[in-house]
Amino acid sequence: MNAEEWFDDFYRTHLRRFSGFNWPAGEGFVELSESFRWHIEDKSIPKDIAFEASLRLMGEPVKNISFGNMLPRFLEIATEMKTRRSETNQANATLQYAATVSKGCLDCGGSGMTDRVSHKDGHLQRFFCNLCAMGVYLAQANRNTKLGENTPDLSDDANARLRMRECGDGRFDSPFKHQAKDWDAERDALRTALYELPPEAAAKKIALIKKGLFAGTSA
Ligand SMILES: [Zn+2]
Repeated sequence: MNAEEWFDDFYRTHLRRFSGFNWPAGEGFVELSESFRWHIEDKSIPKDIAFEASLRLMGEPVKNISFGNMLPRFLEIATEMKTRRSETNQANATLQYAATVSKGCLDCGGSGMTDRVSHKDGHLQRFFCNLCAMGVYLAQANRNTKLGENTPDLSDDANARLRMRECGDGRFDSPFKHQAKDWDAERDALRTALYELPPEAAAKKIALIKKGLFAGTSA
C-alpha cells in the first residue's frame, strides 16, 4: 500500500504516542512531519513496520530522544525490521524450495539428515545429507547452532574421516557405511554414483546442488 494512503493516520498515532515530547512549533513541526513522510516513502517502509517502529521507539528512554534524533532513530529501527523481514522471507522461500526438490531423496528421504554406521565400532553418526538441497539448506542454516556444531556435513572437506580415502589399490573407501536397513538396490546405485566418486567429482555435484538452492535468492 502506498504510504500516501496511510501516512496521516500513522503520523497522528505517532504524535499521540509522543504527546509528552517537546514538539517544535510552526514551521519546524511541518518540516519534521514532511521529513518523516519523505523518508518513509524513500525507504519504502511498509505501514505495519512504520507503526511498530514508532511503538518500539517509545520503549527507549525519553531523555535520549530529541528533535534532532527522533527521525534517524525511527528510520534505524524501521530499516532493521525491514531487513530482518526480508531475510526471514528469503530463508522461508529457500526452505520451501529445498523441501520441494528434495522430496524422496534416495539418501535421506528429503529430511536433509542421514545416518551412517562406523565400520570400526558400529556407532551411528548423523550427517547433513549432501545429495539433496534440503541437506545443503540445513547445513547452511545451522552453521552457528548446536545442531550444526554436532553434525558434520557429508560434503564438508574438513570432515576428512568421511571423505573417500584411497585404499592403495585404486579403490576408494570411507570409514563409514550406510545402515544395513538402508541398503537396497537404489541406494547401492546411488552410493556408486556419488560416494564412490573421487572427491573432486563429488565436489562438482555438490556445487551444482548448492547453485540450484541459492541461485536467485540472494538479496
Ligand atoms: Zn537428501
